[in-house]
Amino acid sequence: MTDPGLLIVVSGPSGAGKGTICDALRKTFSNIYYSISMTTRSPRTGEINGVNYYFTNDDNFKKLLTQDAFLEYAKVYDHYYGTPREYVYTLLNEGKHVMLEIDIQGAMQVKKTYPKGIFMYIVPPSKAVLEHRLRGRHTDTDEVIAARLSRARTELDWIDKYDYLIVNDNLPAAIDKAASIIRAEECRVTRNAECIAHTKKLYK
Ligand code: 5GP
Repeated sequence: MTDPGLLIVVSGPSGAGKGTICDALRKTFSNIYYSISMTTRSPRTGEINGVNYYFTNDDNFKKLLTQDAFLEYAKVYDHYYGTPREYVYTLLNEGKHVMLEIDIQGAMQVKKTYPKGIFMYIVPPSKAVLEHRLRGRHTDTDEVIAARLSRARTELDWIDKYDYLIVNDNLPAAIDKAASIIRAEECRVTRNAECIAHTKKLYK
């Protein structure tokens, strides 16, 4: 039997750099698969359906909710976001790592149903840096940026529910820390039953 892969849950305010860190991790670890979420928000310029998100409408999202199709879901900034349950479990059972880039509400749901997950929280070094990054993206209105900053403040109260905190004040260093966490978690004795059984046989 294959040991299940790691479920890596990454949260942090929009603008913390979690997308960039997650992309870098996927390049470093060929065994990491990204779960594409479903959302009812409209695509931003450059976003592609089936690549960044599966874009859908409220009715379809609610229909899928009644079918228990999501491992977790949340309403973030007036739009629904959800993680497809079956896709995630299929990959984990095949021994592949799955990465979820989701908000705190969703992460806490995953923690309840899948406590073996690895929960990482990424923060920018300061509120000023976060605001600068959000403005630099040129994707959101002033109102949306204000909402994201206020939400970032509220979310800080939840950090202690996570396993790991990464302050993204230097991108390569932040990526390196996240990669080290994954490598250490891969080596956990409790996650390597198959390898241990195999090694014991070799020493018989
Ligand atoms: P954005 O609209 O900027 O792409 O994402 C807004 C927030 O929703 C981010 O914090 C992002 O991590 C979160 N998010 C994206 N997909 C999901 C999901 O499937 N579930 C949950 N709970 N949050 C998500």
